[in-house]
Amino acid sequence: PQPLLEVRDLKKHFHLGSGKTLKAVDGLNFAIERGETFGLVGESGCGKSTAGRTIIRLYEATGGEVLFNGENVHGLRGRKQQEFRRHMQMVFQDPYASLNPRMTVGNIIAEGIDIHGLYTGKQRKARVSELLQAVGLNEEHANRFPHEFSGGQRQRIGIARALAIEPQFIIADEPISALDVSVQAQVVNLFKKLQKERGLTYLFIAHDLAMVKHISDRIGVMYLGKLVEVTTAEELYANPLHPYTQSLLSAIPIPDPEVERTRERIILQGEIPSPLNPPSGCPFRTRCPMAMPECAAVMPEFKEVKPGHFTACHLY
Ligand code: SF4
Ligand code: MG
Repeated sequence: PQPLLEVRDLKKHFHLGSGKTLKAVDGLNFAIERGETFGLVGESGCGKSTAGRTIIRLYEATGGEVLFNGENVHGLRGRKQQEFRRHMQMVFQDPYASLNPRMTVGNIIAEGIDIHGLYTGKQRKARVSELLQAVGLNEEHANRFPHEFSGGQRQRIGIARALAIEPQFIIADEPISALDVSVQAQVVNLFKKLQKERGLTYLFIAHDLAMVKHISDRIGVMYLGKLVEVTTAEELYANPLHPYTQSLLSAIPIPDPEVERTRERIILQGEIPSPLNPPSGCPFRTRCPMAMPECAAVMPEFKEVKPGHFTACHLY
């Protein structure tokens, strides 16, 4: 069957005043099946948020294609584009900055309903109540303002807003990174519950592999604007192939102190290079413990090295 979303050689380059080009997203290829959660992971500055924003067309792509239900959405204009936007919504990282402080929660949630002219009056009110309940809040909250809520509650409001026009696909850009550790699991569980109830498909962006472990069916790892590995969550945690993925996984603490004491940590040398001046050949080579001479000369191709397991590394 056709995947819900297909990203082909997606690029987003920013041309800076200095004549330099920032290749924030530089040739991504992946697909997301209906009802699936695809976790997109990488350190800050790797291009994962830019990728999300380019897919939903908050940014125009520099190159490549985004197919939604088989249709290239980056070619859509006018009414067809508006129609597409109904099916794809975004939940943002910062639950403080992303809600207008002067609007009531009810009006924030109903924004999409109003833009698309879906419901008015009693029906609109009933829809807002239903959404508040679906995210674990209640209908009295509709008349309050964002500042009256905690970070976790505000993120629930952001989720209700994204759900209001019944999208099929949600891009969640680090939706739990700004929250207290104590509420992160609750918000992840809310995403899972809503997925089950509404048949949603997610692109779930995060900066470490611990955060996406319990929600992702498949995971993509990004480094300097490129995907370095994509496979199922199970396979990635059990059998990571790319040295960068291996180092990210070795940084996650293991609860069992016995295991924790005896295992080896892979400590990466140096900082992420500037995306304005990426290394020749493999972008990871300046920090890779396995780097070989050919890694500086030739960019490794992103390819399927085992069924359903893709990586970009000369070791395979
Ligand atoms: Fe390391 Fe070379 Fe593989 Fe890049 S291609 S990840 S430098 S071994
Ligand atoms: Mg970001």
